[in-house]
Amino acid sequence: MPNLPKYQSKFKSLNVDKNQSRYSAGKAPHKPVLLLSLIALNKNNRMDLSNIQINVDLRETWGECWELLDYDRAGPIHLPLYHMQSDGFWNLDIKPEHKHSHPKSVKKLNEMVTRISLDEELIDLFNQPDSRNTLVNALLNGGYFSEDEAQRLSEKIESIDQSFEYEEKIVSMVKDEFQMQDALAFPMPDEIARSSSFRRVILINYDEKCAVCGMKIVASSGVSIIDAAHILPFSKFRIDDPRNGLALCKSHHWLFDHGLISVDTHNRTIVSGSLDIEMPKDIISQYHKEALILPEKASMFPSLTALEWHRENIFYK
Ligand SMILES: [Zn+2]
Repeated sequence: MPNLPKYQSKFKSLNVDKNQSRYSAGKAPHKPVLLLSLIALNKNNRMDLSNIQINVDLRETWGECWELLDYDRAGPIHLPLYHMQSDGFWNLDIKPEHKHSHPKSVKKLNEMVTRISLDEELIDLFNQPDSRNTLVNALLNGGYFSEDEAQRLSEKIESIDQSFEYEEKIVSMVKDEFQMQDALAFPMPDEIARSSSFRRVILINYDEKCAVCGMKIVASSGVSIIDAAHILPFSKFRIDDPRNGLALCKSHHWLFDHGLISVDTHNRTIVSGSLDIEMPKDIISQYHKEALILPEKASMFPSLTALEWHRENIFYK
């Protein structure tokens, strides 16, 4: 039998920085937020806790949890991923040549370790609803969060399943022909769950790179600079089919939404002739007639119908 009280007590007394003025409840929330994110992902079969991957799912969930907390920005995710090894259930297999280094970013941490895993006994506890709830409550009531924060996180853990269910449904839409009409045979979840599902699918499909310029930047907070843009505007069409999406950096997203760039029938970027540009290095015109950086799977390519609509209705020729 796995020892639930042992982990319950470890979760209530995680080895964290304590500072009344810096943290909303006097204790650093990084480790509990990481554990709550992993629990939510594991519950939805999105994370193998015996081989934890620092992927889009984990970083996005981490970011979404921080948005519910009373802080101005999300904390750096590589720190708890590294420092939780002092808490007695978190196993970090560090390459011998990196035994004495401290990671400064997610990328550095990934280079340093061969595997990150939880104790098997703890994984068993996460896989049973009752013990999972007990451990979630130990984290929520361990003094790491204010009462309001704990309430918001608790609701998030409850509702996050909807987001993954919706994601599965929109991904399965690519089996059929792309529909310009919103032909959803299933209901949409709340706005946060919906938009985070669409965002995850697009980021994963495009490996978090801007389809126009290839930019990929992941902040230490784990968030990516890349947006999941709708080709047919969501406000008008309400279509989250992945083929209605493009991963774009902030600049190229803005230009796309304002009709100053589009995509031709050969999946090449086209730049509007009406554009007045002043900048030391032209990051716009140089992509005219350049091939888009597309998803690996052709089934996830942007819809030619949606792109045609964008050229006809949004793009300034
Ligand atoms: Zn870009």
